[in-house]
Amino acid sequence: MRRRQFGVGLLGSLWITSRCSVQAQPSLGWLPVELFSRLGDPLTHLEVTGPFHLERQPFPSGSWRIHVHHQQLFLSGPGQPRRYQGSLWLEGGELRSPTGEPRRYRGWVQIRPQGPERLHLINWVQLEDYLLALVPGEMPADWPAAALQAQAILARTLAVPYLQPSLRTELTGGARAADTLRDSTADQFYGGLTYETASTTAAVRETQGQILTYGSEPIAALFHSTCGGHTSANQDIFAPPARPYLQGVACEWCQDSPFYGPHTVQVSATDLEQALGSSDLQVLQSDPWGRPLRIRVGSRLLTGQEVWLRLGQTLGWGILPSNRFQLEGSATSAAYRFTYRGAGHGVGLCQWGARGLAQQGFSTQQILDHYFPGTQVIEGAPNL
Ligand SMILES: [Zn+2]
Repeated sequence: MRRRQFGVGLLGSLWITSRCSVQAQPSLGWLPVELFSRLGDPLTHLEVTGPFHLERQPFPSGSWRIHVHHQQLFLSGPGQPRRYQGSLWLEGGELRSPTGEPRRYRGWVQIRPQGPERLHLINWVQLEDYLLALVPGEMPADWPAAALQAQAILARTLAVPYLQPSLRTELTGGARAADTLRDSTADQFYGGLTYETASTTAAVRETQGQILTYGSEPIAALFHSTCGGHTSANQDIFAPPARPYLQGVACEWCQDSPFYGPHTVQVSATDLEQALGSSDLQVLQSDPWGRPLRIRVGSRLLTGQEVWLRLGQTLGWGILPSNRFQLEGSATSAAYRFTYRGAGHGVGLCQWGARGLAQQGFSTQQILDHYFPGTQVIEGAPNL
């Protein structure tokens, strides 16, 4: 109980500190990011190597093992073993999961029991600090500054809905609170401090607080690797409502992408059967740029996006990297021939296109204007 009270006091003081920053730099706020969210097995123990602070107190240096037993946290290491109720707040140190590489994080890591034996980790990190580790995972660090800056603005825009005005001691129960980001590609890949690079950090700093809006709301900041010549309308690939700024634009700047194409690949009837439950496919309708909208699969009707996702999830994403493809084959063929262009879902910013535009001297603003017509870059997220 004493620990819980301590936790509240700690958070209170942080909030006072950050509140000043919020007023001066309206983009700042806290993001909760679930760590190790991609592990196949539940996270049952963790190693933390010092120096680090636990509950604001310096902890004896060395490697400590943390595990959960009967919903209590146990620490064993170079000093006296310790037992805790509720959440622990960690600052600094190097974290290592049973299977992963060491990770370091800015901000605070909240360590809490989840169920009788499982650990649940949330990194509470300032938005701008989160982006420092995020952008290098989304775009190569040696790409031109204007492209990196466009990516930083999109990444910030995507994170804004998850901003919390303050840290919270408790999250709602269950596997994941709906307002918590994951560190896997299910949201945006986030590997912590070791992923930061000088050029991507500069891109985040240069665009500090900037997000992309339409009608004063943060946009659906979609992006993909390579459009292959034209992006598509969001409602065709995903779901309504149609976003006026995501209706597809021509892109002649992604031709340096290795995915530009056209490329062809054979997918065997057996693999199709495994991924889709049938090897009898027919594209019934495509959008004007060749992304299938409706595909008959045996006696079922699937969207092009569904077919593409199922193929990727079952056979691996390298087989058919793009949802822009044509099919040749029939129910009696041993294989279908897929001819594809590009990589990714084809909506929003084409990253290789942004690179090409930047190489030709276009600015960050011009790049964003092209892929998201009618939008505006503003300083600071609304309602903060
Ligand atoms: Zn493109």
